[in-house]
Amino acid sequence: MAREYGNYVNGEWVDSESGETFEVVNPASTDEVVARFQNSTTGDVETAIEAAVGTQDHWADTPGPERGALLNRAGQALDARSEEATEALVREEGKTWAEAAGEVQRAVDIFAYYGQKARDLGGVVKSPSGRRTELYTKREPLGTVSIITPWNYPIAIPAWKLAPALAAGNTVVAKPASEAPNSTRIIFECLDEAGLPDGVANYVTGPGSEVGAPLAGHDGIDGVSFTGSTAVGTTVARAAATDLKRVQCEMGGKNPTVVMPSADVEEAVKILGVGAFGTTGQSCTAASRAIVHEQVYDEFVEAMVEYADAIEVGSGLENPDVGPHVSQGEVESTLEYVDHGRDEGATLETGGERLTDGEYADGYYVRPAVFSDVDNDMRIAQEEIFGPVLSVIEASDFEDALELANDVEYGLSASIVTQDLTEADEFLDGIEAGVAKVNEKTTGLELHVPFGGYKQSSTNTYREQGDAGLDFFTSTKTVYRNY
Ligand code: NAD
Repeated sequence: MAREYGNYVNGEWVDSESGETFEVVNPASTDEVVARFQNSTTGDVETAIEAAVGTQDHWADTPGPERGALLNRAGQALDARSEEATEALVREEGKTWAEAAGEVQRAVDIFAYYGQKARDLGGVVKSPSGRRTELYTKREPLGTVSIITPWNYPIAIPAWKLAPALAAGNTVVAKPASEAPNSTRIIFECLDEAGLPDGVANYVTGPGSEVGAPLAGHDGIDGVSFTGSTAVGTTVARAAATDLKRVQCEMGGKNPTVVMPSADVEEAVKILGVGAFGTTGQSCTAASRAIVHEQVYDEFVEAMVEYADAIEVGSGLENPDVGPHVSQGEVESTLEYVDHGRDEGATLETGGERLTDGEYADGYYVRPAVFSDVDNDMRIAQEEIFGPVLSVIEASDFEDALELANDVEYGLSASIVTQDLTEADEFLDGIEAGVAKVNEKTTGLELHVPFGGYKQSSTNTYREQGDAGLDFFTSTKTVYRNY
């Protein structure tokens, strides 16, 4: 019998008023139920919001260094449980062991980083125009915030929202995605173990319609930090805007890597191979378009196919190159895009079929796919697939490549592989993306620099991570003090 977990509300692990639970299965072996979680209601969300609002003044009054010390202890508690958290992440989301261990370490580091930042929440002092006056700014917590997160980084993303929110003195109600609530639960256990006061951070599981929607629109919530698809993010931003809540939505991507003739093609293939197929292509920053100069196009396609064919797909617990998709829905969506690609006239060079034999029989496995002869107006070149599918598009020159790279509605991450410095600089200037890289994969982020997208990838109001991650969770008060 699988374990059942409660919501974490007002410092207690409690059942939903619905009396119902839902199950999470292992995507590598779907007959294994990982655990059961509360199928919460809007009433449960209201109880959690009430708890968070009730304790907000107290948490805001807690000195920053004390809040920071608590975050440090939570990070240490997670570090001590890193193996358990890694396994939980592999079993519910399907990541490989190495990917999951890296993500858990990222969360540990994020708690340490914002634990330190909680000491540094100063303002600025300026020269006033009048005499006997002080003119300065103070940073205050926004209030009670909601955090709505996706399944693909279920430890790192909640951590990079929770840690700055708590560091800045906000109270929080968090909703994880229903595909992967277990890893997020471990973070809350660590916060509890670290001595978090009751009600300061709350965790409520359940469907987007019942749990997510009230977290976006409730009048007790002062700010909504959402990460997920552009479709849902748009709904969240609209709901939050009805009473002018602060809102931050970080959403989908259709990330290009441009390959120029001066590139070492083998190196470019490695960059794209990891960028496109790592995390099973289920990263918002995954490379899904290789835009390749005509001079190296054929060589690139041949080497990319060889790379894809050598990828070992398997259960994350065995630490292969690529794990399963997270769910049946995600597998179906990837397979549909493979069909669209074929129907639209692209050439499926390799992969794209569901793996069903032997060890693959009970999992959501698809062999990594490479399409060539892709036109930029095809659906596989325009829409986020969120699976291990790479579209290779031919460019006639640098200007053409840059234009193709920008000719999508998304603008999250982008890279170029080149030995030509001028090309690299022109790319960095011209690319419409929140993250721009040279000779690197589109995935992979440093935690101490801002992260966010352009265009439909983000509301583009605030950035996450680094110092910028605190901006969303604070308000600036300007003080004129005459004496
Ligand atoms: P999703 O949009 O389906 O769900 C995200 C969260 O929103 C989940 O917790 C879900 O339950 C909740 N939700 C669903 N309906 C809701 C509603 N009506 N109101 C409020 N909340 C609701 O996304 P997903 O499938 O979990 O994640 C994949 C998506 O996330 C991809 O598009 C990916 O690009 C994006 N993503 C973006 C970033 C980034 O930083 N830009 C990072 C990771 C993932």
